[in-house]
Amino acid sequence: MEFPKVFDVIVVGGGHAGTEAALAAARTGARTLLLTQNIETLGQMSCNPAVGGIGKGHLVKEIDALGGVMARAIDRAGIQFRILNASKGPAVRATRAQADRTLYKQAIRQMLENQPNLWLFQQTVADLIVEREQAAGVVTQMGLRFQGRCVVLTVGTFLGGVIHVGEASYQGGRAGDSPSNALARRLRELDFQVGRLKTGTPPRLDGRTLDYGAMTPQPGDEPTPVFSFLGTPEEHPPQVACHITRTNERTHAIIRAGLERSPLFSGAIEGVGPRYCPSIEDKVVRFAERDSHQIFVEPEGLDTHEVYPNGVSTSLPFDVQLDFIRSIRGFENAHITRPGYAIEYDFFDPRGLKPSLETRAMANLFFAGQINGTTGYEEAAAQGLIAGLNAARKAKGLEPWWPRRDEAYIGVLIDDLITRGTSEPYRMFTSRAEYRLLLREDNADLRLTPKGRELGLVDEVRWRAFERKVENIETLRGELERCRIRPDSETAKRLAAVLKNPLQREANLLELLRRPEVDITRLLELAEVDATAYTPAEVEQVMIQARYAGYIERQRAEIERTRRYEDLRLPESLDYHNVVGLSREVQEKLAARKPATLGQAARIPGVTPAAISLLLVHLRKKS
Ligand code: FAD
Repeated sequence: MEFPKVFDVIVVGGGHAGTEAALAAARTGARTLLLTQNIETLGQMSCNPAVGGIGKGHLVKEIDALGGVMARAIDRAGIQFRILNASKGPAVRATRAQADRTLYKQAIRQMLENQPNLWLFQQTVADLIVEREQAAGVVTQMGLRFQGRCVVLTVGTFLGGVIHVGEASYQGGRAGDSPSNALARRLRELDFQVGRLKTGTPPRLDGRTLDYGAMTPQPGDEPTPVFSFLGTPEEHPPQVACHITRTNERTHAIIRAGLERSPLFSGAIEGVGPRYCPSIEDKVVRFAERDSHQIFVEPEGLDTHEVYPNGVSTSLPFDVQLDFIRSIRGFENAHITRPGYAIEYDFFDPRGLKPSLETRAMANLFFAGQINGTTGYEEAAAQGLIAGLNAARKAKGLEPWWPRRDEAYIGVLIDDLITRGTSEPYRMFTSRAEYRLLLREDNADLRLTPKGRELGLVDEVRWRAFERKVENIETLRGELERCRIRPDSETAKRLAAVLKNPLQREANLLELLRRPEVDITRLLELAEVDATAYTPAEVEQVMIQARYAGYIERQRAEIERTRRYEDLRLPESLDYHNVVGLSREVQEKLAARKPATLGQAARIPGVTPAAISLLLVHLRKKS
């Protein structure tokens, strides 16, 4: 049998973006090749062994709703699960799981190996094949040529990667891996806006040398949450606790004394780092008034003693790392197994992308993940799924798809990147979404799974489970609506135990659920409604929909109002210099960015509402 060399989609890089991209493309039926430097590092977590968190958990649930694998993998690899913001409203509640690094990689690799239409091959890509100014394939380090209708690049922090520890620096893609210099040089020759960013990671510690008795334990939640809409707690490996300790004044004094040898402060690092995930030396300088910072002491896995001290990412010289680590309560005798380091790498201005994540400069070439200026596994995976899907669709001659800002955090992520760009590593927060009430973790499947099914991303098993869930939610809702309680009835007397104000008039159970003090489980119990046929997620969904119905309606109405112009397509051929009344600056900005819709145009910094009105007038005249 001949060695396959021609594909619909070629994905370069087997990190979080690349694996979701390859799986999404293959799920839709595209003949897909995943080329990666090292098959052993498929799905590797370069930094902290954890998935989810505020904003990021939302992305993971959305990836899952669209048939992606991140949630399924973490359900099999998670060793501590928590719901963050559990006491707050459902919009900002977020799932987070500590991962066993090895189990996570195993889960991802197993899913890749079992995906029909997907070929895996270990090779470093050194060059792109360009035909008629369009991407047409790749060439590997050893000269193998692979033809592809579309190419998706997801090479993370590897392009021109330089690692820094104190005054020492060397080339690397991340600790233990080579950088991608040949590919970086090639991409710099092409028509992309290249910049440098930086990120860092803490030293790792041998857990046997730590004094856990001096720290505060932090167990996972009970009952154990799950990530995937198809997941169950029974899939989880054994659960363990994390711990918390803190830096102190002595730690900060050691760090301050080492600053002049820090590449961050000596000027050796030019790239901009993540503002929301700063190094400990950055925190000590920027928040000089604080004498302590929290550290989460997180196990790296069940079969290893290695521990990840979350909160002390650093590129200080190794001797300073050792001193400051040992000044921390519980770490007095710590043995460092791996030094902390910072890495600088090339990224491409994401304003050079279409919303499908295809580059504007070169047709059939898609970018996803860290190379678009983002940071985080979840952000990378979300982009990977969209880029892989659209590469497959383009290969088949189909129109691209991406979610809108009011449909998904993935939509917010893409729209922010392509319209606003980023000058520092971009990460997701719930505050970035203007329609937070609609974009909850709990309803990610209701928002996206039908679309995922239509796009060919959602398989039969997920679809059947989804249909069952929707039907159950409707049945329970109907049951609660039909259950009318008269103020003088026996049920009303029982319900008085959970109602702040007694019933004044006849009401159904759905109406009673709107009262903020009412817990649905107690309500069902007291009203003697048998809910054993429904899952906790179905019951919760009925509760959330009932309680927040007013707010949700208001947000929907607002979306309707703005969507009228939001979705208005702007032709690629539109000459902004001919739009009467637009300032030269706005003309230049629009011509450079070529927004796909009027909504995207409105979000480009400097494009005023007045400019949008002028554009509308121009479009009306033309039509
Ligand atoms: P990666 O996961 O980096 O995957 C890239 C893949 O491409 C790798 O498999 C690599 O082998 C492969 N590859 C590279 N070049 C080639 C080539 N030429 N040919 C074939 N294959 C190639 N995120 C956070 O959210 N918080 C943090 O604090 C944080 N700190 C970090 C610290 C460090 C030191 C590093 C390295 C990363 C950190 N990250 C952090 C970022 C996180 O690891 C990334 O956001 C995420 O892994 C990006 O996913 P990706 O798929 O884009 O790239």
